[in-house]
Amino acid sequence: MCHGIDEIHSPDKPLTTGIFDALVSIASEMGFESIDYNRLDDWRAGRTDLPARPIMFDFDHPVKSMRYEMHDVLSRYGYAGNLFVNTAPMIRDDEALRKKFGECMTWDEIGELIEAGWHIGAHTVTHPNLSKLSVKDPSGEMLRAELAECDETIEKHLGVRPRDFAFTGTSFSTIAKREVAQRYRFGRLWIVGSIYQVDGSKVRYADLVGVPGEDEEDGGPPMAARYITRDMDPYLLPSMEMQALIHEPAAFRVYLEGALAS
Ligand SMILES: [Zn+2]
Repeated sequence: MCHGIDEIHSPDKPLTTGIFDALVSIASEMGFESIDYNRLDDWRAGRTDLPARPIMFDFDHPVKSMRYEMHDVLSRYGYAGNLFVNTAPMIRDDEALRKKFGECMTWDEIGELIEAGWHIGAHTVTHPNLSKLSVKDPSGEMLRAELAECDETIEKHLGVRPRDFAFTGTSFSTIAKREVAQRYRFGRLWIVGSIYQVDGSKVRYADLVGVPGEDEEDGGPPMAARYITRDMDPYLLPSMEMQALIHEPAAFRVYLEGALAS
């Protein structure tokens, strides 16, 4: 997964068009085929098989580069992505939001991604830290309002009702999982290291998702925690950030090879 072209937030691990292309080309060369969350759901329910080498390309935030650089690279290899939209930067004219998320797509540009086969999921309105929010509002009401507004806004502008969700940042809560499970088919996490924020505390990612064993030498959770499997909790799906543990082409290749071995 990634957040589009970015040379600012992780300057030591930038994602330029060239670097993104280099990583995606490895997946292509190894024979991976992209799938979306509908296909994943069908497979888990036994309604369909997966390609021999399936891969999911996930993208969080509706930034401009999704429609152009990311789409251009993916489509060159016959791939399509899954885009998770936080709606505040789409509908609020706010300098702080522009600074935080950068220039956003228009609704028409997101519509063009849908036409190109991209899948759309939800990512809240204001992108709250879910761990802190659960401490501030144990009733879950504020989160429910975030999820409802996000879904309604996406449906109003794009005509699709999100059925899948990406948790925000490295934050999570028991409340968020419960609310997400009532509303969506899948909840997807984000792996940039080994630590997560859960219910107001720091927790090992591996402990959150119930994978035994020590963290790996690269600073991330055990390898078994890094891949989607049929039996795993659908509200604890992993995704590997391209600007973190798998930024180097060699590391990305090893990660994909690990999918074939498991
Ligand atoms: Zn996000």
